[in-house]
Amino acid sequence: MSDFSHTDSGPDVTDIAVVGAGIIGTSCALALARQGLRVTVIDAQEPGHGASYGNAGHLATEQVSPIADLSILLRLPAMLFDPMGPLRLDWKYLPHALPWFTRLLLNLRAAPVQRTVAGLRKLNEASLNAWQRLLASIGCEELLQVRGSLLVYERRQSQTPLETLRRRWMQQGVETELWSAQALQNAAPLLSEHLLGGLFFPQTGHFIDPHLVVCRLAEAARACGVHFVQQQVRHGRLHDKGAVLTTSQGQLNARRVLIACGAHSAPLVSELTGRPVPLDTERGYHLMLPHEQGRLPFPVTSLERKFIMTPMLGGLRLAGTVEFAGLHRPPRMNRAWQLQRLSQGLFRQDLDARDATTWMGFRPSLPDSLPVIDQVCDGRVLLAFGHQHLGLTQAAITAEWIAQLAVRPATTVASQTLPDLSAYRLDRFSGPWL
Ligand SMILES: Cc1cc2nc3c(=O)[nH]c(=O)nc-3n(C[C@H](O)[C@H](O)[C@H](O)COP(=O)(O)OP(=O)(O)OC[C@H]3O[C@@H](n4cnc5c(N)ncnc54)[C@H](O)[C@@H]3O)c2cc1C
Repeated sequence: MSDFSHTDSGPDVTDIAVVGAGIIGTSCALALARQGLRVTVIDAQEPGHGASYGNAGHLATEQVSPIADLSILLRLPAMLFDPMGPLRLDWKYLPHALPWFTRLLLNLRAAPVQRTVAGLRKLNEASLNAWQRLLASIGCEELLQVRGSLLVYERRQSQTPLETLRRRWMQQGVETELWSAQALQNAAPLLSEHLLGGLFFPQTGHFIDPHLVVCRLAEAARACGVHFVQQQVRHGRLHDKGAVLTTSQGQLNARRVLIACGAHSAPLVSELTGRPVPLDTERGYHLMLPHEQGRLPFPVTSLERKFIMTPMLGGLRLAGTVEFAGLHRPPRMNRAWQLQRLSQGLFRQDLDARDATTWMGFRPSLPDSLPVIDQVCDGRVLLAFGHQHLGLTQAAITAEWIAQLAVRPATTVASQTLPDLSAYRLDRFSGPWL
């Protein structure tokens, strides 16, 4: 039995059906409800059980470069033959992944990279303030700790690449501090004395429990009248007055639909808009260590080992790795355990892995590393997906922009507060190689 309205235009028809209750969909639902719209969120699971459940919790405002660089070509053999490397490509997935990889490589030419950096900067530079506004509005400021984050290195030969990275960050307007081994010991005394130093990013932060953030936002949204429905959306179709969604339990009519179902968004986008979208997933893993509270004051990433460790309410979360294996192949949890092995040698004393838990999630990634934040089909379809490694970072600002798009009069070309969102449009993929 469905609890949806079945009429097209009666007073009960929801203004906006949001598909996906991850960090993006839930933040958007709250922002849309605060604009006075009637919102229904539909998700096959409880809010926050997709990628938003187990991410590294890093407000990674410094990450304004594309998800890959040309060295990925050199790393391709290792990706295929080393199942434990930081990057893994499943042989069986290779034919499916090839068109996406081709687009990724084409987006690593100078002009597209410039567009990507500009697009990521616009989002990331607004992210911290947007999160502070959002958390203050629901009385949960303590969920975000703005204590910076640190990139450490341990080999002499890493010093030059680190300096190159620092120069690039400076050009991109990202604030960094070069820390000596001593500065690092002063700030994080449990880290190994063998570490040679690092780069500190003062304008970054971390969430002490990413899943709790979604839960608190969902509570606030419910209090604003947002209706949450636990059903799978199977199909969608537009009509004159809006859209009809077919779910596992019935049909929902809505004046508008917001697609925010992360790595699962592509089929619904194609059905509703008639446009294919080159969305794939970079699978990632975490290992949660419940007995490791208090090891670190802020997130620490290893330059050489390529993973992150974030202090959280429930312990220390080790996270990272990228695996191309699509949405359907089972997780390889030995990749999560590999994170524990990678941590060995980074601390004076090895981490305590008793009662550790593993997790795998689907990062939603587009080949130009930018999300889609857009409104199409005469305003009947809103889009907020494809935030790759940065969905948590960018959720609050995405929600502000989506809410402004939704209430903007159709005749208004540009609103005073809404920036130019052309970098995030869906139709940037209308050419075959973009
Ligand atoms: C290991 C790892 C570490 C990460 N670390 C960070 C980090 O430190 N900082 C950062 O900013 N980002 C990080 N990310 C990325 C971030 O987690 C994602 O970008 C973000 O969670 C995406 O949010 P979302 O709401 O778009 O998708 P999701 O959280 O995946 O939510 C999508 C929702 O849609 C639902 N859904 C899908 N299809 C349907 C359907 N047909 N019908 C109904 N519901 C449907 C799903 O059930 C799910 O709940 C990390 C990701 C991973 C995997």
